[in-house]
Amino acid sequence: MSKIFKFGGASVNSVERIQQLLPILRSYKDEKLVVVISAMGKTTNALEKVAEAYFSGHRDEALRLFQQVKDQHLTTAKYLLVRNYLAAEAQLRDFFTEVEWLLHDKPVRDYDYYYDQIVCIGELLSTSIVAAFLAESGIENQWIDVRDMVRTDGNFRDAAIDWDYSEQKVREEVLPLLQESNIIITQGFIGSTSENESTTLGREGSDYTAAVFANMLNADDQTIWKDVEGVMNADPKQFPEARILKELNYDEVIEMAYYGAQVIHPKTIKPLQNKGIPLYVKCFLAPALPGTVIHSKSLKDLPPIFILKQEQVLVHLRSRDFSFVGESGIEQLYHLLAGIRIKPNLMQSGAVSLQLCLDDRIDKVEKLALAAAELFDVQIERGLTLLTIRHYDEATLDRLTAGRQEVLRQQTPSTVQVLMR
Ligand code: ASP
Ligand code: MG
Repeated sequence: MSKIFKFGGASVNSVERIQQLLPILRSYKDEKLVVVISAMGKTTNALEKVAEAYFSGHRDEALRLFQQVKDQHLTTAKYLLVRNYLAAEAQLRDFFTEVEWLLHDKPVRDYDYYYDQIVCIGELLSTSIVAAFLAESGIENQWIDVRDMVRTDGNFRDAAIDWDYSEQKVREEVLPLLQESNIIITQGFIGSTSENESTTLGREGSDYTAAVFANMLNADDQTIWKDVEGVMNADPKQFPEARILKELNYDEVIEMAYYGAQVIHPKTIKPLQNKGIPLYVKCFLAPALPGTVIHSKSLKDLPPIFILKQEQVLVHLRSRDFSFVGESGIEQLYHLLAGIRIKPNLMQSGAVSLQLCLDDRIDKVEKLALAAAELFDVQIERGLTLLTIRHYDEATLDRLTAGRQEVLRQQTPSTVQVLMR
């Protein structure tokens, strides 16, 4: 009965791109659409800088940086709007004022709280402009503040959705509006607490919000509109031979995300999978192309999918007295990892040693090395590359490891991982 669309920051980062939304939305004019739109371009990063400056006591710098965000949005609105300009400007100014009030006070709460109050504005501004522009272009729509529907806990910057409350609200608010109007425009990535404080769901969280709507509204499908033609079997910047995967399933996407592919926010899959709602990834620059469909069916004959992770570090732990590492050594190590909140990308245990491959997050790796040194002899090697191939064949494996020195390998029937120098 309804479709969920999500447009990312790149699809609304210029006047021309926003105008591109018209033909796409017109081609779905007989459908009921809930459209989730991200902040324009790099606005979220710019707002993060505002929050940092404010919290570190540089109020003037924060106001100056915020002025740039304001100017950018006002300029875009001016280019796009005539008849609706004044109304849209008033709406933008209300959001500006919310932030400026806050910037004039001294911070008394923790950083994450202020981060969310400031950063949430990005999606409110972009959706206000787009909604006004669509209306002025003859695409009647309803704009809603998603914070009135998506209730979260107070875990700022990584808030968890109160599913029951939000589901009821989403249905109450969205379904009647969809009777009146074919298009609803709203925000991803943000929500609010029961105290009406704004929250965010974690960077790149808009895909997830869209999936939450899809689940709660029992949507027919969800489409993520991107600047690429679909999901590819490798990063084309690293592998020019990368190609589009026409079809994937939820499990495969979760696996790809786990091994480090920057495909779709991993939290996005579960709400769709639970209701068997297909996810399309399509290109807003070429909407006629089929893109990728992700569903629950099992798939045979997937081509090799490869993922490279750079800046890996190998931590080699050796028992001091050549005694077996044993279960208590492993237990202590897991305990350390959980305490530091670091997840190994690969782990191999032997009689007297353990090897871990991790992302080189200097602070965390140092902490781990220091703590582990109380139990083991510790050696660290940096600057390694981790290659993962799903559905590998020998030829692909040979080609991608040619000329590299292998440090460690792990292999199952479906996946091979090689850590290389
Ligand atoms: N605007 C947010 C971000 O850049 C959320 C999103 O686009 O998904 O992280
Ligand atoms: Mg984005």
